[in-house]
Amino acid sequence: MARLLQGKPVVEAMGRAIEPDIARCRAAGVEPTLAIVRVGENPSDLSYERTAMKRAEALGVQVRSFVLPAVASTVEVAQVIEAINADDGIHGCLLFRPLPPQLDETHLCNLLVPQKDIDGITAMSLAGVFVSEPHGFPPSTAEACLQVLDHYGLPVEGKHVTVAGRSLVVGRPVSMMLLERNATLTLCHSRTDDLARHTRAADIVICATGKPRFFGPACFREGQVVLDVGINFDEQGALCGDVDFAAVEPVLGEQGAITPVPGGLGTVTTSVTMLHVVQNALRAVQAIA
Ligand code: NDP
Repeated sequence: MARLLQGKPVVEAMGRAIEPDIARCRAAGVEPTLAIVRVGENPSDLSYERTAMKRAEALGVQVRSFVLPAVASTVEVAQVIEAINADDGIHGCLLFRPLPPQLDETHLCNLLVPQKDIDGITAMSLAGVFVSEPHGFPPSTAEACLQVLDHYGLPVEGKHVTVAGRSLVVGRPVSMMLLERNATLTLCHSRTDDLARHTRAADIVICATGKPRFFGPACFREGQVVLDVGINFDEQGALCGDVDFAAVEPVLGEQGAITPVPGGLGTVTTSVTMLHVVQNALRAVQAIA
Protein backbone atom coordinates (compact mmCIF):
# COMPACT_ATOMS: atom_id res chain seq x y z
CA MET A 1 0.00 0.00 0.00
CA ALA A 2 1.33 3.45 -0.91
CA ARG A 3 1.70 5.96 1.90
CA LEU A 4 -1.51 7.96 2.28
CA LEU A 5 -0.81 11.68 2.53
CA GLN A 6 -3.92 12.74 4.41
CA GLY A 7 -4.74 16.38 4.93
CA LYS A 8 -6.03 16.14 8.50
CA PRO A 9 -2.66 15.68 10.25
CA VAL A 10 -1.27 18.60 8.22
CA VAL A 11 -4.22 20.80 9.23
CA GLU A 12 -3.81 19.81 12.89
CA ALA A 13 -0.09 20.59 12.87
CA MET A 14 -0.68 23.94 11.15
CA GLY A 15 -3.37 24.78 13.72
CA ARG A 16 -0.98 24.03 16.59
CA ALA A 17 1.76 26.09 14.94
CA ILE A 18 -0.37 29.23 14.55
CA GLU A 19 -2.06 29.14 17.98
CA PRO A 20 0.75 31.17 19.66
CA ASP A 21 0.60 33.76 16.85
CA ILE A 22 -3.15 34.18 17.32
CA ALA A 23 -2.61 34.56 21.06
CA ARG A 24 0.08 37.19 20.37
CA CYS A 25 -2.31 39.14 18.14
CA ARG A 26 -5.08 39.01 20.74
CA ALA A 27 -2.71 40.13 23.50
CA ALA A 28 -1.91 43.18 21.37
CA GLY A 29 -5.62 43.89 20.81
CA VAL A 30 -5.65 42.64 17.20
CA GLU A 31 -8.30 40.05 16.26
CA PRO A 32 -7.18 38.20 13.10
CA THR A 33 -10.12 38.79 10.73
CA LEU A 34 -10.97 37.41 7.31
CA ALA A 35 -13.42 39.12 4.93
CA ILE A 36 -15.35 36.86 2.57
CA VAL A 37 -16.84 38.51 -0.52
CA ARG A 38 -19.48 36.44 -2.26
CA VAL A 39 -21.50 37.59 -5.25
CA GLY A 40 -24.66 35.48 -5.70
CA GLU A 41 -25.55 32.07 -4.31
CA ASN A 42 -23.35 29.72 -6.33
CA PRO A 43 -23.51 26.31 -4.53
CA SER A 44 -19.73 25.75 -4.73
CA ASP A 45 -19.08 29.24 -3.25
CA LEU A 46 -21.56 28.50 -0.45
CA SER A 47 -19.87 25.20 0.28
CA TYR A 48 -16.39 26.81 0.30
CA GLU A 49 -17.72 29.58 2.56
CA ARG A 50 -19.06 27.02 5.07
CA THR A 51 -15.71 25.17 5.07
CA ALA A 52 -13.76 28.42 5.53
CA MET A 53 -16.05 29.55 8.36
CA LYS A 54 -15.70 26.22 10.16
CA ARG A 55 -11.89 26.31 9.91
CA ALA A 56 -11.79 29.96 10.97
CA GLU A 57 -13.97 29.22 13.97
CA ALA A 58 -11.81 26.24 14.96
CA LEU A 59 -8.72 28.45 14.91
CA GLY A 60 -10.25 31.57 16.40
CA VAL A 61 -10.06 33.69 13.24
CA GLN A 62 -13.00 36.10 12.91
CA VAL A 63 -14.97 36.15 9.65
CA ARG A 64 -16.96 39.02 8.15
CA SER A 65 -19.08 38.07 5.15
CA PHE A 66 -19.96 40.59 2.44
CA VAL A 67 -22.70 39.17 0.24
CA LEU A 68 -23.87 40.90 -2.93
CA PRO A 69 -26.71 39.87 -5.25
CA ALA A 70 -25.78 37.91 -8.42
CA VAL A 71 -26.78 40.98 -10.49
CA ALA A 72 -24.34 43.33 -8.68
CA SER A 73 -22.36 45.71 -10.87
CA THR A 74 -18.57 46.08 -11.04
CA VAL A 75 -18.90 49.45 -9.25
CA GLU A 76 -20.88 47.88 -6.38
CA VAL A 77 -18.35 45.08 -5.86
CA ALA A 78 -15.49 47.59 -6.18
CA GLN A 79 -17.00 49.66 -3.35
CA VAL A 80 -16.98 46.62 -1.08
CA ILE A 81 -13.36 45.77 -1.93
CA GLU A 82 -12.26 49.37 -1.37
CA ALA A 83 -14.02 49.40 2.02
CA ILE A 84 -12.15 46.20 2.94
CA ASN A 85 -8.85 47.76 1.81
CA ALA A 86 -9.48 50.74 4.08
CA ASP A 87 -10.55 48.71 7.13
CA ASP A 88 -7.59 48.13 9.48
CA GLY A 89 -9.64 45.52 11.33
CA ILE A 90 -9.58 43.19 8.28
CA HIS A 91 -6.39 41.24 7.60
CA GLY A 92 -7.32 39.24 4.52
CA CYS A 93 -9.99 38.95 1.86
CA LEU A 94 -11.34 35.93 0.00
CA LEU A 95 -13.19 36.92 -3.18
CA PHE A 96 -15.07 33.92 -4.56
CA ARG A 97 -14.50 33.32 -8.26
CA PRO A 98 -15.49 32.96 -10.98
CA LEU A 99 -17.55 36.10 -10.63
CA PRO A 100 -20.82 36.50 -12.58
CA PRO A 101 -20.13 37.35 -16.25
CA GLN A 102 -21.22 41.03 -16.06
CA LEU A 103 -18.33 41.76 -13.66
CA ASP A 104 -14.80 42.79 -14.64
CA GLU A 105 -13.04 40.07 -12.65
CA THR A 106 -9.45 41.10 -13.45
CA HIS A 107 -10.13 44.70 -12.45
CA LEU A 108 -11.86 43.67 -9.22
CA CYS A 109 -9.15 41.20 -8.20
CA ASN A 110 -6.45 43.82 -8.72
CA LEU A 111 -8.34 46.41 -6.66
CA LEU A 112 -7.55 44.40 -3.55
CA VAL A 113 -4.39 45.63 -1.81
CA PRO A 114 -1.76 42.86 -2.06
CA GLN A 115 -1.27 42.83 1.75
CA LYS A 116 -4.86 41.56 2.14
CA ASP A 117 -4.64 39.22 -0.85
CA ILE A 118 -4.42 36.02 1.21
CA ASP A 119 -5.28 33.78 -1.79
CA GLY A 120 -2.91 35.15 -4.42
CA ILE A 121 -5.51 36.60 -6.79
CA THR A 122 -3.81 39.92 -7.60
CA ALA A 123 -1.14 40.41 -10.25
CA MET A 124 1.15 41.78 -7.52
CA SER A 125 0.87 38.60 -5.43
CA LEU A 126 1.60 36.44 -8.46
CA ALA A 127 4.53 38.68 -9.40
CA GLY A 128 5.77 38.14 -5.85
CA VAL A 129 5.68 34.38 -6.39
CA PHE A 130 7.66 34.83 -9.61
CA VAL A 131 10.39 37.00 -8.13
CA SER A 132 10.32 35.23 -4.73
CA GLU A 133 9.39 38.42 -2.90
CA PRO A 134 6.43 38.69 -0.55
CA HIS A 135 4.12 41.13 -2.37
CA GLY A 136 0.92 39.66 -0.94
CA PHE A 137 0.61 35.87 -0.67
CA PRO A 138 0.81 32.89 -3.04
CA PRO A 139 -2.43 31.13 -3.98
CA SER A 140 -3.40 28.94 -1.03
CA THR A 141 -3.73 25.73 -3.06
CA ALA A 142 -0.24 26.09 -4.48
CA GLU A 143 1.17 26.60 -0.99
CA ALA A 144 -0.92 23.69 0.33
CA CYS A 145 1.05 21.37 -1.99
CA LEU A 146 4.30 22.44 -0.31
CA GLN A 147 2.77 22.21 3.17
CA VAL A 148 1.81 18.58 2.49
CA LEU A 149 5.26 17.68 1.13
CA ASP A 150 6.96 19.39 4.08
CA HIS A 151 4.69 17.84 6.69
CA TYR A 152 5.38 14.32 5.41
CA GLY A 153 9.11 14.99 5.11
CA LEU A 154 9.20 14.60 1.33
CA PRO A 155 12.08 16.70 0.00
CA VAL A 156 11.81 18.58 -3.31
CA GLU A 157 15.36 19.86 -3.72
CA GLY A 158 16.95 18.19 -6.74
CA LYS A 159 13.80 16.17 -7.44
CA HIS A 160 12.07 16.08 -10.79
CA VAL A 161 8.52 17.36 -10.40
CA THR A 162 5.96 17.16 -13.18
CA VAL A 163 3.02 19.54 -12.78
CA ALA A 164 -0.03 18.87 -14.96
CA GLY A 165 -2.07 22.07 -15.34
CA ARG A 166 -0.81 25.62 -15.85
CA SER A 167 -3.52 27.78 -14.28
CA LEU A 168 -2.63 30.85 -12.24
CA VAL A 169 -4.42 29.30 -9.27
CA VAL A 170 -2.38 26.11 -9.04
CA GLY A 171 -0.06 24.93 -11.82
CA ARG A 172 2.04 28.02 -12.52
CA PRO A 173 2.48 29.31 -8.96
CA VAL A 174 3.28 25.86 -7.54
CA SER A 175 5.86 25.41 -10.32
CA MET A 176 7.56 28.70 -9.40
CA MET A 177 7.50 27.83 -5.69
CA LEU A 178 9.05 24.42 -6.38
CA LEU A 179 11.69 25.99 -8.59
CA GLU A 180 12.53 28.33 -5.72
CA ARG A 181 13.03 25.18 -3.60
CA ASN A 182 15.47 23.85 -6.24
CA ALA A 183 13.22 21.23 -7.81
CA THR A 184 13.56 20.48 -11.53
CA LEU A 185 10.28 21.25 -13.24
CA THR A 186 8.23 19.90 -16.12
CA LEU A 187 5.04 21.91 -16.59
CA CYS A 188 2.37 20.20 -18.73
CA HIS A 189 -0.93 21.41 -20.16
CA SER A 190 -3.67 20.38 -22.57
CA ARG A 191 -1.36 20.63 -25.62
CA THR A 192 1.42 18.51 -24.09
CA ASP A 193 2.32 15.49 -26.24
CA ASP A 194 2.46 12.16 -24.42
CA LEU A 195 1.54 13.44 -20.96
CA ALA A 196 2.10 9.99 -19.41
CA ARG A 197 5.77 10.04 -20.48
CA HIS A 198 6.24 13.24 -18.46
CA THR A 199 4.34 12.04 -15.40
CA ARG A 200 6.13 8.65 -15.36
CA ALA A 201 9.53 10.35 -15.58
CA ALA A 202 9.03 12.43 -12.42
CA ASP A 203 9.78 11.78 -8.75
CA ILE A 204 6.78 13.89 -7.73
CA VAL A 205 3.64 14.45 -9.83
CA ILE A 206 1.14 17.24 -9.16
CA CYS A 207 -2.17 16.69 -10.96
CA ALA A 208 -4.22 19.88 -11.39
CA THR A 209 -6.23 19.54 -14.59
CA GLY A 210 -9.81 19.42 -13.26
CA LYS A 211 -10.48 16.17 -15.18
CA PRO A 212 -12.22 13.52 -13.05
CA ARG A 213 -10.01 10.39 -12.64
CA PHE A 214 -8.10 11.39 -15.78
CA PHE A 215 -4.73 10.02 -14.58
CA GLY A 216 -4.82 6.24 -14.71
CA PRO A 217 -2.20 3.58 -13.83
CA ALA A 218 -0.33 4.04 -17.14
CA CYS A 219 0.67 7.56 -16.01
CA PHE A 220 2.68 6.34 -13.00
CA ARG A 221 5.37 3.95 -11.78
CA GLU A 222 6.51 2.51 -8.48
CA GLY A 223 7.88 4.88 -5.83
CA GLN A 224 6.40 8.17 -7.04
CA VAL A 225 4.78 10.83 -4.86
CA VAL A 226 1.43 11.95 -6.29
CA LEU A 227 -0.42 15.09 -5.17
CA ASP A 228 -3.97 15.16 -6.49
CA VAL A 229 -5.25 18.75 -6.50
CA GLY A 230 -8.45 17.96 -8.42
CA ILE A 231 -11.83 18.54 -6.82
CA ASN A 232 -14.28 17.11 -9.32
CA PHE A 233 -17.59 15.31 -9.45
CA ASP A 234 -17.93 12.15 -11.51
CA GLU A 235 -20.98 11.17 -13.57
CA GLN A 236 -22.65 9.72 -10.45
CA GLY A 237 -22.10 13.01 -8.62
CA ALA A 238 -19.37 11.56 -6.37
CA LEU A 239 -16.48 13.78 -5.33
CA CYS A 240 -13.22 12.63 -6.94
CA GLY A 241 -9.77 13.86 -7.84
CA ASP A 242 -7.90 14.03 -11.13
CA VAL A 243 -6.27 10.68 -10.30
CA ASP A 244 -8.02 7.33 -10.53
CA PHE A 245 -7.02 6.56 -6.94
CA ALA A 246 -8.19 2.92 -6.79
CA ALA A 247 -6.25 1.99 -9.93
CA VAL A 248 -3.17 4.15 -9.32
CA GLU A 249 -2.44 3.57 -5.62
CA PRO A 250 -1.31 -0.08 -6.11
CA VAL A 251 1.05 0.98 -8.94
CA LEU A 252 2.92 3.36 -6.62
CA GLY A 253 3.81 0.54 -4.21
CA GLU A 254 5.08 0.79 -0.65
CA GLN A 255 7.74 3.34 -1.55
CA GLY A 256 5.13 5.60 -3.20
CA ALA A 257 2.75 8.14 -1.67
CA ILE A 258 -0.52 9.75 -2.72
CA THR A 259 -3.04 12.31 -1.45
CA PRO A 260 -6.64 11.04 -1.31
CA VAL A 261 -9.68 12.98 -2.57
CA PRO A 262 -11.55 13.85 -0.44
CA GLY A 263 -9.38 14.22 2.64
CA GLY A 264 -6.17 15.39 0.99
CA LEU A 265 -5.04 18.75 -0.35
CA GLY A 266 -8.46 20.40 -0.32
CA THR A 267 -8.55 20.27 3.48
CA VAL A 268 -5.14 21.93 3.72
CA THR A 269 -5.98 24.82 1.37
CA THR A 270 -8.38 26.48 3.83
CA SER A 271 -5.79 26.24 6.60
CA VAL A 272 -3.22 27.96 4.41
CA THR A 273 -5.70 30.80 3.82
CA MET A 274 -6.16 31.18 7.59
CA LEU A 275 -2.39 31.06 8.09
CA HIS A 276 -2.07 34.00 5.69
CA VAL A 277 -4.71 35.98 7.60
CA VAL A 278 -2.84 35.41 10.86
CA GLN A 279 0.52 36.29 9.26
CA ASN A 280 -0.98 39.57 8.10
CA ALA A 281 -2.54 40.25 11.50
CA LEU A 282 0.92 39.71 13.01
CA ARG A 283 2.30 42.38 10.68
CA ALA A 284 -0.36 44.72 12.09
CA VAL A 285 0.82 43.86 15.60
CA GLN A 286 4.44 44.55 14.63
CA ALA A 287 3.38 47.88 13.12
CA ILE A 288 1.78 48.91 16.44
CA ALA A 289 4.84 47.83 18.49
P1 NDP B 1 -8.22 25.29 -14.78
O1 NDP B 1 -9.37 24.74 -15.58
O2 NDP B 1 -8.05 26.75 -14.62
O3 NDP B 1 -6.86 24.73 -15.40
C1 NDP B 1 -6.75 23.39 -15.79
C2 NDP B 1 -5.38 23.18 -16.35
O4 NDP B 1 -5.27 21.82 -16.73
C3 NDP B 1 -5.10 24.01 -17.63
O5 NDP B 1 -3.80 24.52 -17.58
C4 NDP B 1 -5.24 23.00 -18.75
O6 NDP B 1 -4.39 23.23 -19.85
C5 NDP B 1 -4.81 21.72 -18.06
N1 NDP B 1 -5.39 20.56 -18.72
C6 NDP B 1 -6.68 20.38 -19.06
N2 NDP B 1 -6.81 19.20 -19.70
C7 NDP B 1 -5.57 18.65 -19.75
C8 NDP B 1 -5.07 17.46 -20.30
N3 NDP B 1 -5.86 16.59 -20.93
N4 NDP B 1 -3.76 17.21 -20.19
C9 NDP B 1 -2.93 18.10 -19.56
N5 NDP B 1 -3.35 19.25 -19.02
C10 NDP B 1 -4.67 19.52 -19.12
O7 NDP B 1 -8.32 24.55 -13.37
P2 NDP B 1 -7.69 24.97 -11.94
O8 NDP B 1 -6.21 25.02 -12.04
O9 NDP B 1 -8.43 26.09 -11.36
O10 NDP B 1 -8.10 23.69 -11.08
C11 NDP B 1 -7.61 22.40 -11.38
C12 NDP B 1 -8.26 21.41 -10.44
O11 NDP B 1 -7.92 21.75 -9.11
C13 NDP B 1 -9.80 21.42 -10.46
O12 NDP B 1 -10.27 20.11 -10.24
C14 NDP B 1 -10.18 22.32 -9.30
O13 NDP B 1 -11.45 22.01 -8.77
C15 NDP B 1 -9.10 21.93 -8.33
N6 NDP B 1 -8.81 22.97 -7.34
C16 NDP B 1 -8.62 22.53 -6.06
C17 NDP B 1 -8.37 23.42 -5.07
C18 NDP B 1 -8.09 22.90 -3.70
O14 NDP B 1 -8.28 23.62 -2.75
N7 NDP B 1 -7.60 21.67 -3.56
C19 NDP B 1 -8.37 24.87 -5.32
C20 NDP B 1 -8.40 25.23 -6.73
C21 NDP B 1 -8.66 24.28 -7.68
P3 NDP B 1 -4.53 24.53 -20.82
O15 NDP B 1 -3.90 25.65 -20.05
O16 NDP B 1 -3.77 24.14 -22.03
O17 NDP B 1 -6.00 24.71 -21.04
